[in-house]
Amino acid sequence: MVRVRFAPSPTGPLHIGGVRTALYNYLFARQQGGKMILRIEDTDQTRFVPGAEQYIIEALDWLGIQFDEGVHIGGPFGPYRQSDRKALYRQYADQLLADGWAYYAFDRPEALEAKRKEYEAQKKTFQYDCNTRSQMENSLSLGMEEAQRRIDAGEPYVVRFRFPENIDITVHDLIRGDVTMNSRLLDDKVLFKSDGMPTYHLANIVDDHLMEITHVIRGEEWLPSAPLHVMLYRAFGWESTMPQFAHLPLLLKPEGNGKLSKRDGDRLGFPVFPLEWHDPKSGEVSSGYREQGYLPQAVVNMLALLGWHPGTDQELMSMDELIRLFDISHISKNGAKFSLDKAKWFQHEYFQQLSDEQVAALLEKEVLERGITANHDYLQRVAAMMKERITFPSELWDTCSYFFVAPTEYNEKDVAKRWTPDMHIHMQKVIDILNTVPFEHDAIHHALLDEYIAANSLNTGKVMNSLRIAVVGRTVGPDMITLILTIGKQETIRRVERAIEKLS
Ligand code: GLU
Repeated sequence: MVRVRFAPSPTGPLHIGGVRTALYNYLFARQQGGKMILRIEDTDQTRFVPGAEQYIIEALDWLGIQFDEGVHIGGPFGPYRQSDRKALYRQYADQLLADGWAYYAFDRPEALEAKRKEYEAQKKTFQYDCNTRSQMENSLSLGMEEAQRRIDAGEPYVVRFRFPENIDITVHDLIRGDVTMNSRLLDDKVLFKSDGMPTYHLANIVDDHLMEITHVIRGEEWLPSAPLHVMLYRAFGWESTMPQFAHLPLLLKPEGNGKLSKRDGDRLGFPVFPLEWHDPKSGEVSSGYREQGYLPQAVVNMLALLGWHPGTDQELMSMDELIRLFDISHISKNGAKFSLDKAKWFQHEYFQQLSDEQVAALLEKEVLERGITANHDYLQRVAAMMKERITFPSELWDTCSYFFVAPTEYNEKDVAKRWTPDMHIHMQKVIDILNTVPFEHDAIHHALLDEYIAANSLNTGKVMNSLRIAVVGRTVGPDMITLILTIGKQETIRRVERAIEKLS
């Protein structure tokens, strides 16, 4: 039974890179008929941000990424928040200490800082590892008796992992193949602190084991920690049930060099967070895909293809299709460049998939906000006609306003180009035609374009665009006669009369 987890730390809003990690876990779990778990990794209390956990839950819910077990819904392997599991980790640290896989270290922060400086002065980087641990204050260099005396005296300590000297550690990665590192290069990471809290590494491995996780799908930034994690499984004697690893490629800046950051989003005008985020400390507001009007289906589809491809050139895929097609072996090793144009393209495509009814409802909101009422059929007709011109709901009013209010101003450039001094004569003729012929497409078309414009060798573009200026205020919009039929005879005539008065 496949069991995967998304294990964010509640240190702020969830970056879209994190959303993609959650999505890939979800697609894999669903496809394999497995379980998807939400675990909150909040062991580092110094980085805890209030509201972040709720934000993560709300964001994933908005995107349709569902969980079978988790901090918000419970489940048979709970609790799912590491701070609620605190009492459980100590025994595992003790086990490693007893088996010689870990040791106590007493080095004060100042002493570690001094060491770092000393190394820096020699243009070297200090690392607490098998080469340096004997120079430091720990139970290996001081002896266990002295260490116990210090602990009994209440001296603060940490528990560090003890890497064996000079062994090769291989991580089998489903995306990258075998990645091997030598233990001489790896630092003796802190696993447990005397305040009773485990660090990420210990809690993560213990929980993945206890929660019977089968696959760890996470960001590439965790690849350097993976040898330690493999060693922890070995040290605990859990290697036979160790999960399989898949480290996802980075999401890159649009230019392609470096990790996509919040600053890129600010600089280029796109959100890097799924939902708007109000920072509780600074009060700073960061924009979100949801608040910018993106549809969750568009965000999901776009993110799915940032680092994975279905093996064909199909681009539009619903969540169900993604679940069907997802395949870890089609995840790329290389970073995936974020593209705002692509994001907008997906949004436009998914906006077109909304029903006229749904677009009409969005439009009605805009209309009502401006104190205008419109009947349902009318809204739906406008929605059907204008949908293809819209990408974001925020464009609805600007694009459709003339269906609800007559223009009060006329685009100067368009007027200068189209509204010739004789135009009032032609516009008066339009009014006459509307007043006499049946109010339907073919009749108006024939009377205006054939019997008047063509028969008098007039410039069709000039006359029709002037009519558009009169009705819309500028020279953009859908088919002119359909437009007239939609807004109605009397309203069209009123607008043309007003334009004659104002422009001639
Ligand atoms: N808590 C880690 C994070 O915030 C989880 C990494 C992992 O999936 O192992 O990314």
